[in-house]
Amino acid sequence: MSTRKRLMIPGPIECEANVLAAMGEPVPGHTAPGFIASFGQCLKMMKQVWQCPSGQPFIIAGSGTLAMEMAAANLTEEGDHALVLSTGYFGERYARILERHGAKVTLLEAKTGHAITARQVEEALSTKKYKLMSFTHVDTSTAVKMDAQSIGELCNKHGVMTILDGVCSVAGENIRQEEWGIDVVLTASQKAIGVPPGLALMVVSDKAIQAWKERKTLVRNYYADWTNWLPIMEAYETGKPAYFGTPATNLVKALEKGLENIINEGLEARFDRHNRLGKAFRTAMSLLGLDMIPASEEVSANTLSAPILPETISLPDFMQAMGSAKVAIAGGLLPEIKTRYFRVGHMGSADKEDLRLCVEGIAFALNECGMNANGEKAWRTAIAE
Ligand SMILES: *Cc1c(COP(=O)(O)O)cnc(C)c1O
Repeated sequence: MSTRKRLMIPGPIECEANVLAAMGEPVPGHTAPGFIASFGQCLKMMKQVWQCPSGQPFIIAGSGTLAMEMAAANLTEEGDHALVLSTGYFGERYARILERHGAKVTLLEAKTGHAITARQVEEALSTKKYKLMSFTHVDTSTAVKMDAQSIGELCNKHGVMTILDGVCSVAGENIRQEEWGIDVVLTASQKAIGVPPGLALMVVSDKAIQAWKERKTLVRNYYADWTNWLPIMEAYETGKPAYFGTPATNLVKALEKGLENIINEGLEARFDRHNRLGKAFRTAMSLLGLDMIPASEEVSANTLSAPILPETISLPDFMQAMGSAKVAIAGGLLPEIKTRYFRVGHMGSADKEDLRLCVEGIAFALNECGMNANGEKAWRTAIAE
């Protein structure tokens, strides 16, 4: 019997069997007709999943951080003013990336566990003129979710380009990129998309492509420059091969299956499922006596949760006790508080059974650390609500 634990960290996540089978196929060449068709399908399906029918998708070998850097590198020139909304670790990272590409960054940081409200954004945008703004939909270090719709619409009103770091939300939380007017929505294959790590993914609005075309200076990252990649994406979408850098062919085949799975489930059904499971998980944690990092239901992500350990329990003891659970979870990430909380991913194909095993594992570990928790009852109650 396999002793492998189910992955319930906030990425990489478990992949469905058809995705794994595509990874294991004999390596396709990047000019093989079957591969060209798959690449083209992926680009078309991304526009559907991102709900951005007139956007320009990019599929590039790399992790989510490359997607962040690609958007920053192509849309920033020396001296541009950028506003960064931060609800944790990844907001901070975006500030560093934009600075590296010459932007003058104003960082607007939320108190831990809180989101940045549309009102705060309105205030910031009315006091200074920014070229672009980045924000994190779900910050994986805090499980705080921002209101992407209100903030996207607000930036449009002020004529500010927007980059949404959706690495922990695309295909798990609703994003209507085109309707909400967000210029770049980016993610990586290993989060809610449900594909192994290795692909940086993004869809770019026509407005952002125009802004990039009007640049006066060269993009300062050769690999990330859309000059190199846009013709490749356009070629594959129209059924022709093209080369700039070798695509991760097996990963693209796997992405095709992952996107098909998402579309077959239906976007609304998928967001609903994440919503129901996320809520049930938070209820179960509360029944076990744990508080959460997000300050309210309204700002709680449905793709992952960040429960706080009681003060009497140390994270290393708790994680060691989790060693006998059937699922793998993650420790804290935000430096200031990383030993006080843990994180559970429940995105992609995660189902009730995964969450039941997880809640029971957590209750067992809490009990090993001296608490008196009933995981089975907590989950039964939570899922019945
Ligand atoms: C995981 C994550 C990233 C970074 O992605 P990598 O693939 O690890 O480079 C960025 N932002 C958010 C919100 C994430 O969850």
